[in-house]
This record gives sequence, C-alpha cells and structure tokens, in this order.
Amino acid sequence: AISVKGLIKRFGEVEVLHGIDLEIPQGQVSCMIGPSGSGKSTLLRCMAFLEEATEGLIYINGEPLGFAPGPQGKPVRLPAARIRAVRSQIGMVFQQFNLWPHMTALGNVSEALKTVHGVRKSEAEERAMLQLKKVGLAERAGHYPSQLSGGQQQRVAIARALALEPKIMLFDEPTSSLDPELTGEVLNVMRSLAADGMTMVVVSHEIGFAASVGQQIAFLEQGRLVFAGPPRDVFNKPRHPRLDQFLDTYL
Ligand code: ATP
Ligand code: MG
Repeated sequence: AISVKGLIKRFGEVEVLHGIDLEIPQGQVSCMIGPSGSGKSTLLRCMAFLEEATEGLIYINGEPLGFAPGPQGKPVRLPAARIRAVRSQIGMVFQQFNLWPHMTALGNVSEALKTVHGVRKSEAEERAMLQLKKVGLAERAGHYPSQLSGGQQQRVAIARALALEPKIMLFDEPTSSLDPELTGEVLNVMRSLAADGMTMVVVSHEIGFAASVGQQIAFLEQGRLVFAGPPRDVFNKPRHPRLDQFLDTYL
C-alpha cells in the first residue's frame, strides 16, 4: 500500500505539487492520467524516493519513506539503512528502458542481484531466468538490447525490476516510446502482474488499460489531484468538466 499525505514538491522557488493526498491499497492498481507538466512523473519519483518531498509524508506499507514525523510534527530524515529497506520494496519502470547495452537480457536482469544484493552468480541467473520467463522472454535471455525490439527491451526492464522482488511497482509511461503494435505485449505483462496481486501505480494514457485493470484512476492537473476514484466514476458521465476536456483529447 502507498499513502501520500500532504505532499508538496518545490524545485527551487517553483512549486510543482501543491499538497497531494492519495491512498493506494495493497494489491490495487492506480492509473494516473493528466496533461503534460501536471506533475505525474514528479509524484511517481517522490514515491520511489528518487525525489525528496519538500513537505508532507509518504508511507509504504505503513512505513515512512525517507522522512518520519518528528517531535514537533516537523519531518525528520530517517537513517540511510531504514530508507534503503523501505525503498527496496519499490520497483520502477521508465519510458526509456535504460538497459545496459553491453549486457545480455540475462545480464541486465541479474546484475543488481549480484552487485547490490550479493547473490552469487548461479543463483542470480536462476532468479533472473524466472523473471524473464514471467515476461515471456526466456528464449531471448542471451540477446543484447540492440537485438531486441522495443517491447522486448521494456519487458526486460520490467523483469529487471521484478528480480529485486518489490512489493510495489511504479510505471512511468512504460509504452510511450513503443510502436502501437508493441504496446500490447508490454500491457499484457503488466496486466498479469496486476492479476497476481502486485500493487502498482501506472502513469499512462492507455485509457483502455486504465479502465480495465485499474481499481483507481487518479487525475492530476497543474500539481493538484483533481480526482481519484474507481474507473466507472471517472469514465461515466457526468464527468468532472476538466476531466471531460482531457479525455476528449485522448479518447
Ligand atoms: P509529462 O506528461 O510531460 O511527462 P508530467 O506530468 O510527468 O509531464 P513532471 O515531469 O512531473 O510532469 O513535471 C511537472 C513540473 O515540474 C513541470 O513544470 C516541470 O517542468 C517541473 N519539473 C520537473 N522536474 C524538474 C526539475 N528537476 N527541476 C525543475 N523543474 C522540474
Ligand atoms: Mg512525465
């Protein structure tokens, strides 16, 4: 579960998130939509602690991420080991796959297990193979990223995140750089993850995916959460006028 409370994010003088409150229960999928520049990536990056909140708190499965309430209510930074422990529950997949070009699919998926987690090579590769199987790429384990399609590369990136056994997966426009015919295979992998009960936040304009897989649709605009609710409330009319306008440009 993810709990975001009063999240404010400023870059220098510029405030880009103005106080976000959002709850994503364990095992649910929240799909985040909203215009370019509305703060979707920033919110997701805060949830992964790739960005630090300026104000407010984030809880991952009940545990504070990065900062906890201090004595005077002012957040205090947690020790590095605590931060690492909570962060390790979160996996993230980006629009750009960021695979290491000089490593095979298997190498990409097993690398962090070996170097970060100290898992020995044979076991790391065994666990990596399991994840490659899960994304349907067992037979491509020995291929380099340049020998894989965009959709396959993104599935390797998903397997890489899964290899670290996260409890929560964050996706930032995972199919936006893919040709339409490759989008489906990535969405299918995400669909089966959701069916397995993974807690997920997905920034995507794949409205069909959002409506069929998401328990929650969150609509962000200009750094504010305008709306968060079940798909039927979002897509059925009457809709929030701003959402209506937004959906008209995407549907
Ligand atoms: P898109 O749909 O285009 O990906 P988004 O909803 O993900 O947009 P963000 O990338 O979160 O939007 O950006 C929100 C605002 O924060 C934008 O105005 C952006 O310029 C600003 N911003 C994001 N990152 C930084 C940064 N590192 N420094 C300064 N401003 C930033
Ligand atoms: Mg973005």
